[in-house]
Amino acid sequence: MPTGDGLLARLMPSGPLAIDTVVALCDAGQVHGNGIVEVTQRGSLQFRGLSAASAPEFARCVVALGLDAGGGAPLIASPLMGLDAHEFADLRPLLAALRAELANHRFASVGPKVSVLIDGGGSLHLDGVPGDIRVQAVPAAEDSRLHVSIAGNAATGTALGWTEPQHALEVIAHVLSCIASRGTDARARDFANGADAQALRTLAHLSDAPPPNPRPPAEPIGVHRLNTGQVALGIALAFGFTEAAVLKRLAQVAAACGASSIQTSPGRSLLAIGLDVNGANELSAAAAAAGFLVRPNDPRRHVVACAGAPACGSARLATRELAPAIAEAAKPLLDGSLTIHLSGCAKGCAHPGAAALTFVGPDRLVVQGCAGDTPHGMAPIAQFIAGLSRLSAQRQSSGIPESSAGLVSRLGAAGVLDAMGAAHG
Ligand code: SF4
Repeated sequence: MPTGDGLLARLMPSGPLAIDTVVALCDAGQVHGNGIVEVTQRGSLQFRGLSAASAPEFARCVVALGLDAGGGAPLIASPLMGLDAHEFADLRPLLAALRAELANHRFASVGPKVSVLIDGGGSLHLDGVPGDIRVQAVPAAEDSRLHVSIAGNAATGTALGWTEPQHALEVIAHVLSCIASRGTDARARDFANGADAQALRTLAHLSDAPPPNPRPPAEPIGVHRLNTGQVALGIALAFGFTEAAVLKRLAQVAAACGASSIQTSPGRSLLAIGLDVNGANELSAAAAAAGFLVRPNDPRRHVVACAGAPACGSARLATRELAPAIAEAAKPLLDGSLTIHLSGCAKGCAHPGAAALTFVGPDRLVVQGCAGDTPHGMAPIAQFIAGLSRLSAQRQSSGIPESSAGLVSRLGAAGVLDAMGAAHG
């Protein structure tokens, strides 16, 4: 994909990557790109700054590492599939069969943004990850069947029904065919209306019953027990990016601590797999020292920044350079209830949805909206940073027991601008 700093390569690894593979990818990202590596909110691995000449070389490295996905719709499997001690069902055979179908170009006319989520459950489920088709296991003691829904995340999706595991591939194939029949721009959300969803529900092998209960949000950061008796350590990338040299060093330290592989995970995170508890503790300390997030309550998790200037040619803000200062200034506000989005321009690549506060370069402020919305106010970035402290002070002095999101909702756009000292309009 073309971006302001050249071409961007996105990989969705189908499972854990051997440490040597991570090291080789980092080397390739440095040699053929600008050395910036990202893990996205959906768990994709991105390498930036490739050129028209270097991108084919990078692709050759990827294929040589055995990572050629064969094209087709992105498949997102629950992290640690087949390894998670709390997993409800091992859906790797379904994943492999679906991947084979896609590799045969059976759904070649499905648009590149159509995604299929295969969720075996466990501690790192995919309920919060949006997708086009979601196949979800529930505790085997409750039901061995799989639940199928389309569009949105697990809470907002449209339920189609339940299917036996042996028929799941057929059901997915049918829904993909329906989407493909409407052209490459079609998405599952086009079928989430009453009539189309009802037509899909009449599929053989789908039976009606209430959808699964919502689960507590998945938390990738921390120690996860594996069915091998070992553990995986989850860490996250501050503001979703790091340098290839830093990631390479982390992979080498992970290996020294006993990890055999690393897997990307939703939530801009990485899982080092195959550790014992001592090794996990040792790696956690090394990762923290290298700037990675190792605590679930790290306030930096709630500041989202796009590539920004100078990486992106469209940017009018050095988003990633400013993000640490903004996270520091906003620390008392970052209680997990709200997100602050820094966007270099109105495109809003890093956070397509609404955020409590969105600062759009060079000086626009949107309250409870998206980067592309009409700005509510204006402030130079220094004033925005100072305003975060004032907003926080207002919350403390109000005496009202409320979350930061509650404060922003109560004040509304005008009240937030006033509290921050920003100009209206
Ligand atoms: S939001 Fe704008 S500035 Fe940021 S990466 Fe996307 S195009 Fe570039």
